[in-house]
Amino acid sequence: MTDKERQQLLQKLLEKQSRDKLTPSDRFEIPPQDMPEQDAAERRANVNEVALGYTPTQARLEALRCLGCKKAPCIKGCPVQIRIRDFVCAIADGDYTQALAIIKENSLLPAVCGRVCPQEVQCQQTCTVGIKFKDPTKAVSIGRLERFVADLDKDNASIPAVAAETGMKVAVIGSGPGGIVAAADTRRAGHDVTIFEAFHKTGGVMVYGIPEFRLPKAIVQREIDTLEKMGVKIVCNFIVGRTRAIEQLMKEDGFDAVYIGVGAGLPRFMSIEGESLIGVFSANEYLTRANLMRAYDFGKSADTPIVQSKKVAVIGGGNVAMDSARTAVRLGAEKVYLVYRRTEKEMPARVEEVHHAKEEGVEFHILQSPKRIIGDDNSRVTGIECLKYRLGEPDDSGRRRPIPIEGSEFRIGLDTVIIAIGNAANPLIRQTTPGLEFNKWGNIVVDENCKTLLEGVYAGGDIVLGAATVILAMGQGRIAAAAMNEYLAKKKKSI
Ligand SMILES: Cc1cc2nc3c(=O)[nH]c(=O)nc-3n(C[C@H](O)[C@H](O)[C@H](O)COP(=O)(O)OP(=O)(O)OC[C@H]3O[C@@H](n4cnc5c(N)ncnc54)[C@H](O)[C@@H]3O)c2cc1C
Ligand code: SF4
Repeated sequence: MTDKERQQLLQKLLEKQSRDKLTPSDRFEIPPQDMPEQDAAERRANVNEVALGYTPTQARLEALRCLGCKKAPCIKGCPVQIRIRDFVCAIADGDYTQALAIIKENSLLPAVCGRVCPQEVQCQQTCTVGIKFKDPTKAVSIGRLERFVADLDKDNASIPAVAAETGMKVAVIGSGPGGIVAAADTRRAGHDVTIFEAFHKTGGVMVYGIPEFRLPKAIVQREIDTLEKMGVKIVCNFIVGRTRAIEQLMKEDGFDAVYIGVGAGLPRFMSIEGESLIGVFSANEYLTRANLMRAYDFGKSADTPIVQSKKVAVIGGGNVAMDSARTAVRLGAEKVYLVYRRTEKEMPARVEEVHHAKEEGVEFHILQSPKRIIGDDNSRVTGIECLKYRLGEPDDSGRRRPIPIEGSEFRIGLDTVIIAIGNAANPLIRQTTPGLEFNKWGNIVVDENCKTLLEGVYAGGDIVLGAATVILAMGQGRIAAAAMNEYLAKKKKSI
């Protein structure tokens, strides 16, 4: 559909009758609006965002596809219960300010969530329109609409109001999405809030993990700037558990409450021969070098050392694997293979990411997994020896179990291997904070208010949930902040 055709259709729909008089059949006839994207061949050579965002005409047409369902099942699919129907209808009416205000009631980071939330397994999975077409990709594109209105607010002019100073001090450990929301909500209540971040830059995985081409860093920086304008203090290069322990922050530095939002940044390895060879990376290291240290700008604004790979294998099938493979393409690799031991159907990565990776030339090797990594006399990677797999019965995760086929070994010649099979909790907080409870995976145990066993100490996000999502981390940051505000109000009264 051309832009002109879209405009004509929108005009016809709006002239025909008022928005709320359109019948379901009128709405079903509106074609789902595709997201404009950078050309695949072009984007292989740059790190600019792939998805370009809706035009106002596209946004209104897409919003007009919404039936305004009475029970709005989409809301039940949203982890933070955004009033989706109402914000989508506001877009259909062209009232973008109202749409954004509705989203912001429940989500502080709409420009981020509109880009990276897995809507196809959340709000869009339960959308009546997708169900009618028996295809979640034909549901109302709620995420794209969220992004559209969030991007109109580029200057982020509205700085949330902050209550009068309470004199209570809050330490937020980690500046990921959970930490950002916990800091904003406790600062709004008038507390003196400091974020302590181990890296030299704030934003957590949104900055060091998710690549620029999916989530531009400037968007995350805007949120950090808003926090600073609200009066939140930010201290980088500060590792809680090394620079200061939580006990010291509370007993010696005067913090009344602490939010632990340190994420799950410890990469998992495969425990196979050759994992310590030169040229083997965890996805975390590879992506951090590329994103946070701007390895793609080598020789210009950054001098981060990173191998100039020719042939790369990424092991795994999740979003992290897709991000690594697509980053390797942009760093100039001639061949990038994605090696996964199940089939594409079982891949945990978002369908959109799989599609983009393929478009960019990543070659999928499914039902295969490395048995060992092979190196030369200088301990440099020269290849992997793989086994072929077949699928058996479903395992505990509900996905069919991969079973190695004996004697099926074969080799792939490579110079780089990126292992992207998941992350676990970093043990530092555990080792340095007596009194906290941890589960068998090393995640902090909290109650329904995100409160830990230690008085005044709360936790949320990946350190509690295991590697999860941005929106779930944000949701926990919000729950924890509400509980902290209540705890601090009581504490203040008792002083
Ligand atoms: C490559 C990649 C791609 C992803 N893609 C998506 C996606 O598309 N959609 C989605 O919803 N989710 C995605 N996720 C998951 C999502 O990013 C996380 O679930 C989310 O960021 C977790 O937020 P968090 O607040 O728990 O902390 P994190 O974002 O993990 O941030 C924690 C912060 O704490 C800091 N820190 C750690 N230890 C200390 C310490 N001791 N002292 C001080 N600071 C410390 C870290 O440096 C980090 O900045 C992805 C994850 C990765 C790795
Ligand atoms: S379920 Fe879909 S059609 Fe119904 S209100 Fe939500 S977005 Fe609109």
